[in-house]
Amino acid sequence: MLTIGMLGGMSWESSAEYYRLANVLVRERLGGLHSAKVLLHSVDFAEIERMQVEGRWEDAGKALAAAAAEVQAGGADFLLLCTNTMHKVFDQVQAAVDIPMIHLGDTTAQAIKNAGLTTVGLLGTGFTMDQPFYRERLESHGLRVLLPSPEDRATVHRIIYDELCVGIVREESRRAYQDVIARFDGAEGIILGCTEIELLITQADVPLPVFPTTRLHVEAAVERAVRP
Ligand code: GLU
Repeated sequence: MLTIGMLGGMSWESSAEYYRLANVLVRERLGGLHSAKVLLHSVDFAEIERMQVEGRWEDAGKALAAAAAEVQAGGADFLLLCTNTMHKVFDQVQAAVDIPMIHLGDTTAQAIKNAGLTTVGLLGTGFTMDQPFYRERLESHGLRVLLPSPEDRATVHRIIYDELCVGIVREESRRAYQDVIARFDGAEGIILGCTEIELLITQADVPLPVFPTTRLHVEAAVERAVRP
């Protein structure tokens, strides 16, 4: 079995889910006492968040590239960047290591295409929704990406940073997300495009198919890790 490298802590609430899911999926695949081989490098999210807010993406990319090199040196066979938002600096991180990285946008797009859908609503941080880096990656797979209104984007963003990233899951926020989802016009599915959103919203909460990016990313990683 290959060793999955993870660059996490963004936030650790979702990294814990990455770790848990990797082990659950390996047990499902191999049975018995099998568990995932994981090397997790977890950053201090406050430092990264400050760089995001200040627009210091190059610096954030440098910090993550250094962390990625450590994961590689530790013996990981490939690497996951456990956050949609920081895929903004995916190329910078990938350039710092020889081991391959699995791009979250690609695993998500593949799942949407496998489901036979082309038009999807995107929920994520303001950075992920407002900036082109993530949407364009999805569009490069032939998908059409719809965004919430600016007011709805602000609500979605606020709930991620003020609540989900600090471990707060509120029924009121779940309803707010459901309302945002209901306002998408023409979406065939919904991308939970922030790795904490699936701590709040599951398929049972939404009438349209949802695409939980954490689960999809881990599924792709475990598939690669256990492939004979
Ligand atoms: N984990 C989140 C994401 O998937 C947001 C936190 C971050 O900015 O990295 O985008």
